[in-house]
Amino acid sequence: MQILELKNFSQAGAAEANEPPIVGNRVELQLLTTLRCNLKCTYCSLGVGEVLGSQRNVTYTMAELDAFIAKHLAGYETYVTFYGGEPTLNLEFMAQVMERYPAFRFQLQTNGTLLDRLPGSILSNLSNILVSIDGGEGTTDTHRGRGIYRQVMKHLDAIRGRLGGVATARVTWSSEDTSFEEIDGLTRHFDYVYFQFAQKDDIYHPEALAKKRGVLTQLVEKFFASERLYPVIPLMGVVRNKVLPSRAQELYAGLSQCRVSTHILNVMPDGKIYPCPDMLYLPQMQQGDVVGNWLRRSPLQPHPDMPCQSCDAFAFCRRNCMKNLYRAYVQGDEAYRRQVVEPVCDLVRFLGEEVDRHDPHRWYARAPLALRKALADCEVYEYVEIMP
Ligand code: SF4
Ligand code: SF4
Repeated sequence: MQILELKNFSQAGAAEANEPPIVGNRVELQLLTTLRCNLKCTYCSLGVGEVLGSQRNVTYTMAELDAFIAKHLAGYETYVTFYGGEPTLNLEFMAQVMERYPAFRFQLQTNGTLLDRLPGSILSNLSNILVSIDGGEGTTDTHRGRGIYRQVMKHLDAIRGRLGGVATARVTWSSEDTSFEEIDGLTRHFDYVYFQFAQKDDIYHPEALAKKRGVLTQLVEKFFASERLYPVIPLMGVVRNKVLPSRAQELYAGLSQCRVSTHILNVMPDGKIYPCPDMLYLPQMQQGDVVGNWLRRSPLQPHPDMPCQSCDAFAFCRRNCMKNLYRAYVQGDEAYRRQVVEPVCDLVRFLGEEVDRHDPHRWYARAPLALRKALADCEVYEYVEIMP
């Protein structure tokens, strides 16, 4: 399917209008509680297009959200991610949503610095907390500010006993000096670690790529040497997709595992809806509106100019990041393609090759049943992009 430019929703073609907006049986409502943030991270994607800080509070009403959910989401298994800005700056909205929709599943994406403000009634109802962190103390404080690493860890320890679900470290891997020990160390503080290669130009020079490959090699070695499941989501995801290829497709209709083409709705504080939280500044990406009570299928779909289907990694990667692919191959941003997209794709292919060196099928065949189940059914796959 081609990416559709939405000039005027009322002029959209009849075929598009007849498509169900949500693909599959579940939907993720990513509710941006505010676009304010109390940190200034060096690589913040909301900085693009002047999005950060542009909307302070939710301006649609609960009655409008009710009407939107009744009209478009009835019958879907629904999970809500509170997102921002820093979502905990609007606790009142989080509490209202939890109270209003008690059967939904809830997740929080946070920078972790205000976790101590969360009441037990919210904590006990969270299936997962995704905490943004960059690695060890030095790396995290370089990107987020002095003392942030210790503050986050202290708050995490303090809330552990009251958290209903799991805690996942969300690492944006930008520094070439991030070591194996840093990422590995996070597995001792969190239930899971997810890492994503930073989408930033000027960081993927040959020496930096070589260092990242070295760390990936060590992580994969540890994954296959561990007696328990090594809880690093991109490694788990690549192995799962290789040994159980249907799992790479079933929740996403064969499309991107970050859900942007199928069933994730990023709802801005003003009620406008977009598939990808990094593309909130592009009018042609709008796919709905809570206030206007309309929803169409995600416009962020595979395009013939994207190279994925002829890529060796496609079977397990499945279009890692649609935003990257859109910018590089549909908008034709050559510099971004060379400096970000191609190096990240090379790293993904390398990761797949490293996994293959350890014969994942043989490893899986010998693994205890509990480990196989944990690898196949980890709920955190539903909350993160899976691929790095
Ligand atoms: S590695 Fe890149 S080109 Fe290959 S499938 Fe993934 S996103 Fe597509
Ligand atoms: S991985 Fe998906 S959600 Fe994340 S930036 Fe890329 S397209 Fe957007």
